[in-house]
Order: sequence, then C-alpha cells, then structure tokens
Amino acid sequence: MADEALIVLENVNKWFGPLHVLQDVDLSVARGEVVVVIGPSGSGKSTLCRAINRLEPIDSGTITFDGRQLPAEGRALARLRSEVGMVFQSFNLFAHKTILQNVMLGPVKVRKEKPAVARERAMSLLERVGIASQAEKFPAQLSGGQQQRVAIARALAMQPKALLFDEPTSALDPEMVGEVLDVMTSLAREGMTMVVVTHEMGFARHAANRVVFMADGQLVEQATPAEFFANPKSERARDFLSKIL
Ligand code: ADP
Ligand code: MG
Repeated sequence: MADEALIVLENVNKWFGPLHVLQDVDLSVARGEVVVVIGPSGSGKSTLCRAINRLEPIDSGTITFDGRQLPAEGRALARLRSEVGMVFQSFNLFAHKTILQNVMLGPVKVRKEKPAVARERAMSLLERVGIASQAEKFPAQLSGGQQQRVAIARALAMQPKALLFDEPTSALDPEMVGEVLDVMTSLAREGMTMVVVTHEMGFARHAANRVVFMADGQLVEQATPAEFFANPKSERARDFLSKIL
C-alpha cells in the first residue's frame, strides 16, 4: 500500500529535566515518503530522530514502526534498529577498519550474514554511492563527502525499511555537500522512506514530499515544499526562512 504509514508518532512528549523538548508531537510518515524536518537550532530535531529509533527514550506517547509499537529493549529493539538506519552529521566510521569492512560489519555481526554475501552487497552499495574504488582504504584517507557516502552505504547494508538523516551535510566543506545530497536524492527517487533533518532548502524543495517545521519542541507547521516555501503560515516559519534563505 503506497500511503500506508510506516512511522507513526502520537502525542510524544520528552523532557530533559525542566526542558520540554518534544511537546505533544504527532507525525506520520508513509512508506516511501520523504519528510524533511527543518527548524532553528535547539528546537528538538535531533531528539525527534533519536526518539524514532529509541536512541532517546520518550516520557509519554507512542511511536510505532511498521505497525509495531517501539520495543524498549532486547532483541526486538535490536531488530528495530536494524530496520531504521541512521546517518549522522559526524560519519562515525570505524577508523581502524577499511571502507569495505565498515559496510560489511553490521550485516555480519548483527544480521549474521555470511561474509561472502555481505561483501558482495557491500561492494554493490559502494558502487551505488560512487566509492567502490576506495573499498580497501581507511576512512581517514577519504574526504568528508566520501566518508558520508560510505556512512549511507553502511546504513543501506542493513537493508533498512527507513533511513533517518540528522544534518548529514552540516559537517562537510561546501564543495562536498552536493555529492552527498545527490546520493540522498536518488534514494528518495527509488522510494526509500526518509526523515531528513537538514538546512539544505534545495534538497527540501526538490526531494521532499513534505516539509515539517519545528520550533521549541513543537511541530509548528507541515506542508508540501511548494506550499511551505511559497506561503509559510506561521510567524516563526516566516522568521526562520527569512534568516536562512
Ligand atoms: P536540534 O537538533 O533541533 O538543534 P536537539 O534535539 O539537539 O535540537 O535539542 C533540543 C533541546 O534539548 C536543546 O535545548 C538541547 O540543548 C537540549 N538537549 C539535547 N540533548 C540533551 C541532553 N542529552 N540533555 C539535556 N538537554 C539536551
Ligand atoms: Mg540537531
């Protein structure tokens, strides 16, 4: 079913001490949908992403993934984590492992795949992100843009049902942003379900099905990119856009 919900947050609340960082958050992401989350620094975007795969516990509300409520721990949680890939601002590759080993590690260790099978898929994913020729190198030998593409290949190697991106291009030199966004755009076109926190408004315009604007822990506004950029409804969204565009 094309518009079946894959990720559903209902009435989610989270506090850090006195700080109400997620306030009654309701968000539903359909299978194959690309949702771009934007908003000022400190508005709760990273916390939202981390809550979706339980890197961050929530205080109330429910999060369901593919029809199942998020498990709190144990094997079910490990399975959930392998179904929801995450790509961070810092690439977090293992420095002492080769590019190929980085991409094979999860499938072999977590999914208990045969190394030969994992290697074959890892190589084809490295090809897909344009890094196959660097497979035997170590992360430090690659540029930031290349390392981030490896991180995307590594997430894909787990055959996730959805990918979360938390400012994947924010740590990159400007000339490397495009190569990472290109990989993300092609994933979006291929139907991957994606939640993307980014300040790259070009990506939001061209690749997103929906833009969600967050401020102070609340989802203030959601719309198609065309609608949102042409006619932001809230004062806070207008203010935010005037500062970044
Ligand atoms: P964003 O990603 O939109 O910049 P975050 O989700 O990182 O926002 O943070 C939202 C708010 O929660 C910020 O005020 C931040 O300082 C605070 N925060 C984030 N992580 C923690 C933590 N582990 N402990 C306490 N406060 C935190
Ligand atoms: Mg953040």
